[in-house]
Amino acid sequence: MERRMSSRLGGEFCLVCGAEPPLYGDRMCEPCLRARTVLAKVPENIPWVRCARCGIVEIDGKWENTTEDEVWDELLHRNLAVHDQAEDIQLAMEPVKVSDRHTLLHIQIEGVIDNLLFQEEHTMRARMANGVCLTCTRRAGNYFEATVQLRSSARRLSEDEFTRLRATLEEVLNKLSDDPMFFITSEGQVTGGYDVVLGSKGLARAWGRHLVSEYGGMVVETNSTVGRKDGVDVTRLTLLYRKPGYEIGDIVQWRNHIWRPSSWTKDGAIMERVDRRERTGASWRDLEQAKVLAQRHELSSVEFINEDASVGEFLDPNTWAMDHVRLPFDHTPGRKGLLMRHDDAWLALPFMAVDEPETVEES
Ligand SMILES: [Zn+2]
Ligand SMILES: [Zn+2]
Repeated sequence: MERRMSSRLGGEFCLVCGAEPPLYGDRMCEPCLRARTVLAKVPENIPWVRCARCGIVEIDGKWENTTEDEVWDELLHRNLAVHDQAEDIQLAMEPVKVSDRHTLLHIQIEGVIDNLLFQEEHTMRARMANGVCLTCTRRAGNYFEATVQLRSSARRLSEDEFTRLRATLEEVLNKLSDDPMFFITSEGQVTGGYDVVLGSKGLARAWGRHLVSEYGGMVVETNSTVGRKDGVDVTRLTLLYRKPGYEIGDIVQWRNHIWRPSSWTKDGAIMERVDRRERTGASWRDLEQAKVLAQRHELSSVEFINEDASVGEFLDPNTWAMDHVRLPFDHTPGRKGLLMRHDDAWLALPFMAVDEPETVEES
């Protein structure tokens, strides 16, 4: 009777049960509002896919390398539907593994709706399914787009040198963003070099640029069409990288004379002639026929015991027998000699910037 009175008098009351204020939301008392309000909805089961070969995870149609904790977070945020008027939402989740494939995600959520605090607990079951990612599918099919051929000019590289060159691919891979096609299909030694077959032309080119900037030399690209698919030519890239077999200060035979590279330029080297004062710029292509006669660390440094204007006498550092050599064009009396063996005789070299006395004694 009281209620009817108050309603007749225009007072507020719960639309569901007729209770007195306080009222919330669309004019309901607190128990009625709570009984009709759900803070969060989550599906009972949520599937996710992991590559059975490499372990990466498919999220939203994209394959990503991610941790399980990130997977749970991702699944939660994609599947949790929160009441659209809720504010100050707090979330906590605890994953509990129940089998290889099944993980229960226990979720605690709280939030404020119409100034009332709601707290709920939910459980989702994350169910893992095995798949095969694009990368593994293509790897399994020996898919490749590019071959990088590591070679050298002027000197054969040692196995260690090839190993160091090959290791720079890892540096490049680490710097590039994750791309499912950035994989190595196969690799191995070949006569005079090392070949690496890659899933991506982009990766091959990035590596080529890196090699040139680190070691000089040049890259030659060849594209070949191997077929046609869906109306588009399928092409393969061969990228030949030749690392110069010489360093600054090494001695090379080039254009019928003996030279030493004294510095690198944008596309080659400055070459200094050994038998007279002459320097010239040469491109990598010009230098393709160069042959290394000696590396700088193989040179011998000797004291002259007697010298005249053109010849110096010294003790052969290997036999300790007296020997003599024609002095280089830039010789000054009293200076040490920088010698190499050439055609079964000694050859004395003019000094370059890298031959400052300290440097010579070290080598
Ligand atoms: Zn009510
Ligand atoms: Zn995979």
